[in-house]
Amino acid sequence: MPRAALFDMDGTLYDSMPNHVAAWQQMLAEAGIKVEAEEILLAEGRTGTDTVRMIFRRHLGQEIPDDECRRLYRRKAELFTGMPAVCLMPGAQELVGAVREAGMITVLVTGSGQNSLLHRLEEDFPGVFPENRRITAYNVTQGKPHPEPYLRGMEMAGVSPSEAMAFDNAPLGVQSASAAGAFTVGVITGAIPPESLVNAGADIVFTSMRECAAEVSASLSGGM
Ligand code: MG
Repeated sequence: MPRAALFDMDGTLYDSMPNHVAAWQQMLAEAGIKVEAEEILLAEGRTGTDTVRMIFRRHLGQEIPDDECRRLYRRKAELFTGMPAVCLMPGAQELVGAVREAGMITVLVTGSGQNSLLHRLEEDFPGVFPENRRITAYNVTQGKPHPEPYLRGMEMAGVSPSEAMAFDNAPLGVQSASAAGAFTVGVITGAIPPESLVNAGADIVFTSMRECAAEVSASLSGGM
């Protein structure tokens, strides 16, 4: 029986990727760089500053100074905050409810530093992700796809990798969880094809959070 459930935030708990893509595209357009939505989606999971560095390297062949990198990420976060409120991913509350009912410890494992969303967690998931059970862009040195975020999440929960289940919608997030040794559940919630999550190391892939919630709930109540 798994003892801890580790949850990614964007594209897993919240349907926030369309807003993130639009905010990234707008900030980068201001900096003179045009990116396709796919490039942003495939970078999902990295910390914001890692993404800025990677895109500048790829498109302009430039290393950008740290202060400029932070400024650009702040601008992207500001644009995101100004967009229409994001919705909860349908099925997310049911999935979180099912693992809590099974007595599992819950931990948030996100590369995000987006306070407008982090501040909503307590309202949407009361008591589920208190400050001492959150790994964010603020407390890792290496973001996803490195295993550090999920390893730190397990440490926070006080469990070993064999006792942890991770839920993530992005190839780099799945790669991170799988490398950390968690039982990794990939969930398709956007334009990413299921093979990408399988290739990234997912142990199982669901095609929606609703399906994931129903299946996980049934397995947990029936004994896994
Ligand atoms: Mg995600």
